Amino acid sequence: VLCVSEEFDFFYFVVQWPGSYCDTKNHCCYPKSGKPAADFGIHGLWPNYKDGSYPSNCDPDALFDESQVRFLIKMTQVTILVYCFCLFFVYNMEQLTDLMSKMQKSWPTLSCPSNDGLKFWSHEWVKHGTCAESELDQREYFEAALKLKDKVNLLQILKDAVIKPDDRFYDLDKIKDAIEEATGFTPGIDCNIDSSHNSQLYQIYQCVDTSGSDFIQCPRLPRSRCPSRVQFPKF
Ligand code: 5GP
Ligand code: 5GP
Ligand code: 5GP
Repeated sequence: VLCVSEEFDFFYFVVQWPGSYCDTKNHCCYPKSGKPAADFGIHGLWPNYKDGSYPSNCDPDALFDESQVRFLIKMTQVTILVYCFCLFFVYNMEQLTDLMSKMQKSWPTLSCPSNDGLKFWSHEWVKHGTCAESELDQREYFEAALKLKDKVNLLQILKDAVIKPDDRFYDLDKIKDAIEEATGFTPGIDCNIDSSHNSQLYQIYQCVDTSGSDFIQCPRLPRSRCPSRVQFPKF
């Protein structure tokens, strides 16, 4: 059956706290580019339906998309070679290396074994991004996520509310209220369990319109595994 890219109602923009990914019994690995900043990192931009369900893997041809991302990197390398010959390529190279360095900074992978992130980014594109192809092509999808990350500084918002990654426990409601007050919208909060069995702040979900550019009130909040008090671990 031919699979056309589906309509969807909104995006979840999901960021993860690296400290909470890394202190579970599964551990984590830092990307090849080094230890990520002590900041929320992008997990993904996920098309969703209002009823809580969501489409995934919408483009069978996208299976080859890892090679497309690799192609972008190859392009960058090739571009370096022709740097002296063509200004167009120079411009292109700047854009691509800029995108890559932004991806490494804002969307670091923490999975093992240590890698450069291509696998994570390509997984997110194939599973989620392809379901928004009616709105965003691959490049626009990654750029939209990076822009959303820069729009709201969640860590600063929490710090301003004296909620810090210091291994202490905080009221879930205080976390939500701080983000709601600063952004105007209620976030979804998801928790995971560290190796000492404490529930901790793992992911923050913000809802975004189908163009991928503006935060909106969530048509539906994601499921949450958080108790009323959660740990905010150091990283
Ligand atoms: P987990 O079970 O770890 O929360 O989620 C596993 C994976 O399922 C996520 O990485 C994501 O790909 C997908 N997923 C979980 N919840 C949602 C959701 O509400 N919307 C979408 N689009 N994907 C989700
Ligand atoms: P989801 O399917 O939940 O959108 O994405 C999770 C997938 O991406 C898993 O297969 C996981 O192994 C991989 N992955 C690679 N790096 C990371 C990371 O830093 N955080 C998370 N949550 N998943 C990652
Ligand atoms: P994905 O392979 O691996 O579908 O992973 C499923 C879930 O396992 C992800 O949502 C992620 O939270 C977790 N996970 C996957 N790989 C790792 C890892 O290397 N370290 C940690 N701590 N969790 C992982």
